[in-house]
Amino acid sequence: MGNAERAVRVDLAACYRLAARFGWADVIYTHISARVPGEDAFLMNPYGLGFHEITASNLLKVGFDGTVHTPSEHGLNRAGFVIHGGLLGARPDLACVLHTHTRDGVAVSALKGGLLPLSQFAMFYWGRVAYHDYEGAATDEAERVRLVADLGPHRIMILRNHGLITCGRTIAEALVTMDQINKACAVQIAAMRTGAELTMPGEDACRRTEVYASNDGPPAGAMEWAMFLRTLDREEPDYRT
Ligand SMILES: [Zn+2]
Repeated sequence: MGNAERAVRVDLAACYRLAARFGWADVIYTHISARVPGEDAFLMNPYGLGFHEITASNLLKVGFDGTVHTPSEHGLNRAGFVIHGGLLGARPDLACVLHTHTRDGVAVSALKGGLLPLSQFAMFYWGRVAYHDYEGAATDEAERVRLVADLGPHRIMILRNHGLITCGRTIAEALVTMDQINKACAVQIAAMRTGAELTMPGEDACRRTEVYASNDGPPAGAMEWAMFLRTLDREEPDYRT
């Protein structure tokens, strides 16, 4: 295994551990993937392990053609292959795809109006959230074309009646974006639950907030990532093994 793959394995394992800490795991059912640099392959969790059990060495290496290159007692999650292989295969600018079924994310995905700019968390991504209609469990490769088309140029997609996807030019970017979007969903659901009238900021305020967090700059999350790794290295360093 090359140094580049080894480095991605360590970072992706860290991402799984952090996702577990954030409470984003849904038993064994969702997935996070990262591209193997210079190869037609990506890394993903073996089907059957919890996010908290992922290590650098137990991640599956999967070719974009569906070949599993890593011997494992666990299989490949078919829906995970369809979603992650489809998006990473079609978008060479993306290094990482993160998919969750958090309660707040699924709740917002079920709302006709989708994610509303009710908080800064949401306004950071104003106009940059894509939507994909639910078609059943994503086990049919034909759905890939529509997943890719619906994502368009964006890096965030709400899977209606299903959950959230964030993509990153780095693993850190996918992680910090999911954190913000999930918080945006949580705030929206909490505010709506009160039943009180909601204040919607004007378009100018939304645009200024989006520009502040513009996606044209360097990938987000480098400083946050360093902080997260310090914590993991202190408290659960086995993710590197
Ligand atoms: Zn899912």
